[in-house]
Amino acid sequence: MVGTGQGRATWRVAAADLVLGAACAVCERPALHVCPGCARLLLPQVGHVPGSLTVVAGARYEGAWRAVVPAWKERGHHGLLPWLAVALASAVVEVAGEESDVVLVPVPTSRRNRRRRGQDHMTVLARAAAGMLRSCGLQAGVAPVLALARQTRDQADLTAPEREANLRGALRAAPPGRDRGRGRLVVVDDVTTTGATVREALRALAAVGHVPAGAATVAWRP
Ligand SMILES: [Zn+2]
Repeated sequence: MVGTGQGRATWRVAAADLVLGAACAVCERPALHVCPGCARLLLPQVGHVPGSLTVVAGARYEGAWRAVVPAWKERGHHGLLPWLAVALASAVVEVAGEESDVVLVPVPTSRRNRRRRGQDHMTVLARAAAGMLRSCGLQAGVAPVLALARQTRDQADLTAPEREANLRGALRAAPPGRDRGRGRLVVVDDVTTTGATVREALRALAAVGHVPAGAATVAWRP
């Protein structure tokens, strides 16, 4: 019986939690990564970011998502990666539409943030999402097509028009090369608020002759 097997697996996870002293990243009850109750809150609910036909998010950045994204990104809770990857992969599928072959293009991280986090978090996340898509039978790869053209200010305290100005021309893209035709490019980022970063990424790609399908993010912050 399926139910019995799942029950046994749950107990095994619970036992591991007790040994490790692990806590749910959302509610802090004993759990490995997230508890079953909070897991239900992390099911992807793919939706277009308002005002944009080309930016799709896997979830709204609220509730459980407000806990797991920073826990993974800033506090080294690496076991949460699959939750973020499945939301991102779901958004990529929506952006890709009928395309059977996609190349995920991570938004670049500043060298300072890469050092602070000990990893290029968007490349890690893009690879995990692409791996999930491939395991579902879709063609998906990751290509580091984008780079920072200049330093930008921290976006957190800026208004929407200030974000646009802060990011205009901030990214540059490698022109299409020998691998052109390997798949439609989809820009990927973790959280979008106004869509300014992903729009700048799409602009930079188009400026050198790419025809990106759009952008996908883990979550949209309303
Ligand atoms: Zn929980």
